[in-house]
Amino acid sequence: MLSLKSKLPAVGTTIFSVMSALANEVGAVNLSQGFPDFEANPKMIDLVNESMKKGLNQYAPMIGVATLRETIAEKTRFLYGASCDADTEITVVSGASEAIFDALACIISPNDEVIILEPAYDLYLPIITLFGGKVIPISLDSNYQIPFELLKNAINPKTKALLINSPHNPTGAILKKNDLEQLEKLLENTDIVLISDEVYEHIIFDGQSHESVMKYPKLRERSFVVSSFGKTYHTTGWKLGYCIAPPALTKELRKVHQFNTFSTNTPMQYAMAEFLKSKEEYLHLPDFYQERRDKFKKMLEATPFKILPCEGTYFQLVSYAHLSDEKDTDYTVRLTKEAKVATIPISVFYRNQTDRKVIRFCFAKKYETLEKGIENLLKSKDKLYQK
Ligand code: PMP
Ligand code: GLN
Repeated sequence: MLSLKSKLPAVGTTIFSVMSALANEVGAVNLSQGFPDFEANPKMIDLVNESMKKGLNQYAPMIGVATLRETIAEKTRFLYGASCDADTEITVVSGASEAIFDALACIISPNDEVIILEPAYDLYLPIITLFGGKVIPISLDSNYQIPFELLKNAINPKTKALLINSPHNPTGAILKKNDLEQLEKLLENTDIVLISDEVYEHIIFDGQSHESVMKYPKLRERSFVVSSFGKTYHTTGWKLGYCIAPPALTKELRKVHQFNTFSTNTPMQYAMAEFLKSKEEYLHLPDFYQERRDKFKKMLEATPFKILPCEGTYFQLVSYAHLSDEKDTDYTVRLTKEAKVATIPISVFYRNQTDRKVIRFCFAKKYETLEKGIENLLKSKDKLYQK
């Protein structure tokens, strides 16, 4: 049998697939993988159907449908006061994952160093590795904030890129104005490219506003800013996203995009171009998810977990350090099997599996799903303690 010398020997199946499969297998409430279990707005689904019926079923332009790119430009101006050119700076791609893949592919040459901040979303590290880059992981501090001194010390002439993510998956932390200003200073006079993963830009709480890199001209000129409609419109399965970058960076990104996916599905782009005009759909998202966060937090208070802060995203972290010494990967598997609630262990987002005994719940779920999850935890309360 033919076998391949793996380019990614340390990589297994993603934790999201693993935990969702286990949840299905044992009949657990799935609060692990980040996807809503409620429906998208039916108007949007009608718009996709209408596009298909109108015959908009062939390849879209490689860079994305013009009306969609123009609407994204308008939205970016409205939200972040940044003007960007729909033809030379915006590319529609098949999800944020593709944008990040394309950006890293066009940046990295073998032995280039790329800094990631851990815990880091799980696709960054393998992609950097795939293109021969060297991952330089820096741990966020105990409050999941950027340790600027460490970051500064990690930068050297081999540093090619830095990846940031706010609101942050898996921790729910957000970057503030001061962080962006510090980044601006730090990257000044370097050739470091910034990749800013902003897929949760509309899921931010307590009246805080999302500090997009688009608001910081000095950062913007060196950045790929990545977003995804999947998170904003409860349609993670549509895999529709976009990347904004200055023309010279966009030109290189598109060289990869055109030979990766070439273009992104057509009817959904036309539908999104129309639907995106309705600002209310994204402006109400902070309230929509804050209510879920608050209610879920309240429910969690009945459990023995220690609840950690959540300023954005639809993820809630809890610590079980006072309950058990088990490795978080073992703990989450046991919780899924014995308490019938699936969650995500945080150690998998560290290259060296740093285990702080913290696990992640996804609260983008119907209230009945969240209630059932808590009910299962309370029914099996003894299982939350050391085995
Ligand atoms: N980045 C982060 C931080 C995410 O949580 C996700 C969601 N899965 C992605 C990127 C990928 O988004 P998409 O599904 O649009 O590819
Ligand atoms: N981003 C989602 C999460 O963090 C999962 C996406 C995926 O399964 N690839 O749960």
